[in-house]
Amino acid sequence: MSRNPRYDVLFEPVRIGPVTAPNRFYSTPHALGTGNQMPHTRAAMREVRAEGGWGVVNTGYCSIHPSSDDAPLPYCRLWDDKDIKVHALMVDAVHRHGALAGVELWHGGNGTANRLTRITPMTASGISYSASYPNWMSLTQPRAMDRNDIRELRRWYVDAARRAKSAGFDIVYLYAGMGYGPYQFLLPWMNKRSDEYGGSLQNRVRLTREIIEDMKEAIGQDCAIAVRFSSDELLKLPGEILQSEAHEIISMLADIPDLWDVKSSDWTVETISARFSEQGEQEPFNSFVRPLTSKPVVGVGRFTSPDEMVSQIKRGVLDLIGAARPTIADPFLPRKIDEGREDEIRECIGCNICVSAYHDCVPVRCTQNPTMGEEWRRRWHPERIPPGDPATSVLVVGAGPAGLECALALGKRGFAVTVAEASEQLGGRVTLESKLPGLASWARVRDYRTNLIQVMSNVDIYLANPLSAEDVIDFECDHVVIATGARWTRQILDSRAYPAGDIEGNAIYTPDDILAGAKPEGPVVIYDFNHYYMGSCLAELLRQQGNEVTIVTPANAVSAWTLMNNELGDIRTRMSELGVGTIFEQYLTGFNGGAVQMASIYQRSDVSSIECGSLIVVGIRSVNDHLYQQLKSDADLITETGITSLHRIGDCRAPGIIAHAVYSGHECARNIDAGDAIEPIAWERPDM
Ligand code: ADP
Ligand code: SF4
Repeated sequence: MSRNPRYDVLFEPVRIGPVTAPNRFYSTPHALGTGNQMPHTRAAMREVRAEGGWGVVNTGYCSIHPSSDDAPLPYCRLWDDKDIKVHALMVDAVHRHGALAGVELWHGGNGTANRLTRITPMTASGISYSASYPNWMSLTQPRAMDRNDIRELRRWYVDAARRAKSAGFDIVYLYAGMGYGPYQFLLPWMNKRSDEYGGSLQNRVRLTREIIEDMKEAIGQDCAIAVRFSSDELLKLPGEILQSEAHEIISMLADIPDLWDVKSSDWTVETISARFSEQGEQEPFNSFVRPLTSKPVVGVGRFTSPDEMVSQIKRGVLDLIGAARPTIADPFLPRKIDEGREDEIRECIGCNICVSAYHDCVPVRCTQNPTMGEEWRRRWHPERIPPGDPATSVLVVGAGPAGLECALALGKRGFAVTVAEASEQLGGRVTLESKLPGLASWARVRDYRTNLIQVMSNVDIYLANPLSAEDVIDFECDHVVIATGARWTRQILDSRAYPAGDIEGNAIYTPDDILAGAKPEGPVVIYDFNHYYMGSCLAELLRQQGNEVTIVTPANAVSAWTLMNNELGDIRTRMSELGVGTIFEQYLTGFNGGAVQMASIYQRSDVSSIECGSLIVVGIRSVNDHLYQQLKSDADLITETGITSLHRIGDCRAPGIIAHAVYSGHECARNIDAGDAIEPIAWERPDM
């Protein structure tokens, strides 16, 4: 297949100062959860993007000095010459595929707590920023920088830039955004200085200008100097000549850097999930830049559609299509467009599980791409998979995300695969949950897999086929994979937060009931101790249907876990806009058909109740493994019928999120002929 000429513009080279990007696909700086501790993992994660056609591949935030220490979060660093080697590993990996490598030099100022190095954080005027995420909450306030500190900061940038050049980087960033480094000098509420670095906008911009010029002088002959700039806060400040201070800053510095990378300053806005935004959501923050500079402009927007990418270029918004999450979900996105295989793109669903992995301080994981983070450790490639024996047959029972991913990977390996699904539709929980408000894009988990499976001659799918143990045995295949999912239960918690058994009574529902179309009588109480999306999504759905809704939870927030994937603030706002009531830090102890009873999680004798017509329990799921257990209980029969292995995967093995199910299906398919498909085969330890 060949490329659609409509997309030719995406494959034009773009000059960036002294270097040239081979195309307009630009993997922007973003943390991968590896830091300097896992250089091989990081290099392999970046390398697959270069191989997959991204013309520029950047590191995540890279500290220039120990006074910028984000521990325990995984950041990378170029503090001295000893740090060069680990970066060179990634640069060489990216260069092997003809892409440019970039590094985002970063000084956190008051945005870091310096827990590891114990150096007092410093910033323009010693003003602190009060973070609400625990890993960024600092118990020490920063000190104000004097002129000597500013001289030192400039020197650190130059030293780090020289090291970046030694490592082989083609593009070296100054990170002047997101509350970091010189950005703190730009903001009038952060910069109260009375010297030449404070006061007028000219003065506040001085440090940014000086650092760009310093770096250009030091390495500008060979490396492009890029600036990453956050615009949203400055767009709100009226300018003296132009519309806003953001406009004036860009026009003052216009052509001094070789590239502008522009975005919003709040990381929860920059990574807003698909539940609360559409593709291209960053346009209000970057579309003003293009007319103010002759240098290329890059921006993100969770772009997965080549038509939208072309539109960004043709409308003069961006010169380079920046991406973070779309590169995670499909490192081969550009190559698929180039080869006319757009329908094979594994589109990001905007769920932000990748974001939560970074907060967990582990290599980034992805719902759509199970190989993410395993490229080096397990040698899993996002597009290639070792061939299997075509004469070997595998029966997969259940076509949810686990069964579909398993069938797809087995099909790619060349096995003879049969999928039996009880219902009349593919996708299992994904198909049901994607009908919840804001989750339509989650259906991409199903669609990516079914689109590919349907054209595979070695994979057959049978819908409306609920299999019994006898059916499985009669089928006479070599391997059996059970992917029959899980069910929500009515279990509630005891005061130690352990399961206390089912709550009995009428008008009590689970999410499965609501997803199947049950219409509870209001007012409705949702008792949520699952803490992810389900409780708040059901609240939204029921409000749309006109019900009064109150969420009761033992946590201190609605969907409390979503602090980890950056959705918490948006969920809280949505609940408040919808008028959903919230009662925090309470266990539910009973429901008598007209009211629920609750007790404080701190003081069990502190009891209360609220009236309601129905109760929905969003808590514990239970495996639907009846078929697996039946088959397993008759080991002799299994052996007699020639079945060599029996596995269970996904929610039927252990209920989890969709990312777990996809990963489990993939792992099983990779290892099915390795003797033990369940436990990981030997894998490399973290790198160094
Ligand atoms: P997972 O997330 O692990 O993929 P899901 O609940 O999404 O789990 O999917 C499980 C699928 O298995 C559902 O589509 C369900 O209809 C199907 N299923 C359950 N029991 C059987 C069975 N006995 N035979 C065939 N399909 C089944
Ligand atoms: Fe996209 Fe979700 Fe994968 Fe992140 S985890 S890249 S948001 S699909």
